Amino acid sequence: MSTIPVSAAERDQMLTAEFKAFAKSINVDLIGIANIERFADVAANRHPCSIFPEAQSVVVIGKRITRGTLRGVEEGTQFSLYSQYGRDWLNNRFLAMCTFKASEFLEDHGWEAVPLPNLPPETPPMGIPVREGQPAPNVMIDFEDAAVRAGVGEIGLCGVLLTPQYGPRQRIQLILTDAPLVPDALLSKPVCDRCAQREPICPMGAIQADAAQTVEVCGVSMTVAPVDYSLCRRCANGAAPNPHYATGKPDRLAALCTRSCLAHLEENGLVENTFENAFRKRRPWQIIDERRIIS
Ligand code: SF4
Repeated sequence: MSTIPVSAAERDQMLTAEFKAFAKSINVDLIGIANIERFADVAANRHPCSIFPEAQSVVVIGKRITRGTLRGVEEGTQFSLYSQYGRDWLNNRFLAMCTFKASEFLEDHGWEAVPLPNLPPETPPMGIPVREGQPAPNVMIDFEDAAVRAGVGEIGLCGVLLTPQYGPRQRIQLILTDAPLVPDALLSKPVCDRCAQREPICPMGAIQADAAQTVEVCGVSMTVAPVDYSLCRRCANGAAPNPHYATGKPDRLAALCTRSCLAHLEENGLVENTFENAFRKRRPWQIIDERRIIS
């Protein structure tokens, strides 16, 4: 029996479709693919090819932070469940397993796959260049920037990655591969409606909404406000220190600002993952300093 030859383009489309179907079967919630050309304007010390020079595609793999994981922080009564199911275990167990299994799928099909955890891009170099013209290790990719390039989402006004499916509720990791996967379309419709410019969402004044500027990544235009992360590092409203690097950006995904963002997106029908009942049921508590609690 003779086989019908397929073109390279057809082969790439089939591999991409099979890869995405596999990702779905292992409960990946978000997947986006950027071709390497979309990183042409990225500096060498942030560039995927500094880690894997033959990389053709950058895959963004994401899992949602389940909404109930934020409940204890929203009510101000239980913070540990978020730190495990919403951050540490989600990053280092559930999502890491998805990333690794998706990498195995690519390698089972003959393509090298480099799995990458989301480490803070602010981390300074920890060594010297081993060849002339190479950046010093460790090269750190900006994952949120990569997510925009892969069509997964956008950076919202408050500086957090927002996706159409979950708003700010996700963790992401990357796979660099020499597989010529078919890239996804870039985000065409904004998720963020810049509510923080109309109603402040940070009791500490860390989000400078009036100084927001337009940022463009691969033609995706976003309005992003400067954030004073020195205030976020002292924030007692659900923020947590960066687990990898002390002066890296703190984890704000359960902080009051991000929970307010989530409540706003859900109330205004701006995210796809919806619920029977509203996320925000009571006036949120706020701590301005140790002596002033407002609820
Ligand atoms: S983490 Fe705290 S200080 Fe930083 S923007 Fe959010 S609410 Fe404000």
